[in-house]
Amino acid sequence: MPLLLNVPFSQKDEAKALGARWNPQLKKWYVNNREEYHKFSKWFHNKDTNLIVSEHLYIAIGNQTCFKCKSDIKIILLAADNYTVIDDGSEVFDEEINFISNISNMPSNLQRFLNDNFKYCKRYSETSQSNYFANHCSNCGVFQGIRDNGPFFIDSEEKASELVLYAIKLKNDLELNGSADWGSLDWMIKEYATFKSLDLDL
Ligand SMILES: [Zn+2]
Repeated sequence: MPLLLNVPFSQKDEAKALGARWNPQLKKWYVNNREEYHKFSKWFHNKDTNLIVSEHLYIAIGNQTCFKCKSDIKIILLAADNYTVIDDGSEVFDEEINFISNISNMPSNLQRFLNDNFKYCKRYSETSQSNYFANHCSNCGVFQGIRDNGPFFIDSEEKASELVLYAIKLKNDLELNGSADWGSLDWMIKEYATFKSLDLDL
């Protein structure tokens, strides 16, 4: 799947020389080779992008009790199995489903969907002195942290089997700013969790 680029007309020759191709329908430059994504970082749509998701974006849903009002609530994390981490190079991952946390940017329609359905929305963190997306209680609205022993800490088949994941098929690769977390038993998610497909045009 292509990663669409935001190339100003004056820089088209430079992008082309690096291997970008032109999509005449979309009238946009794009790249396909994930190993080389970092070379095109100045043409990403968001300058903070450090993680690019391919194929599917997952919304993983788990259960938690609100520490404040004691309601049983749903909390979520985004997750991916085909993704590329961008820094000085492009590190390509194509295996297990890994959770993505500390997200500070995502497409506005995804923001809206996650806010309306799960109260997953931006919050200011004193620790990191920045805004990032986090879960909030659907009953009392208070911020919900991701607990070390919570639903996204996969340490058994049983824990993996309690997760539900909505899979969104991506038309184009998706830019995010966030960090992918690796758990040694994350492979159990594909094996034991419940998957549903979700039609969302990102
Ligand atoms: Zn609550």
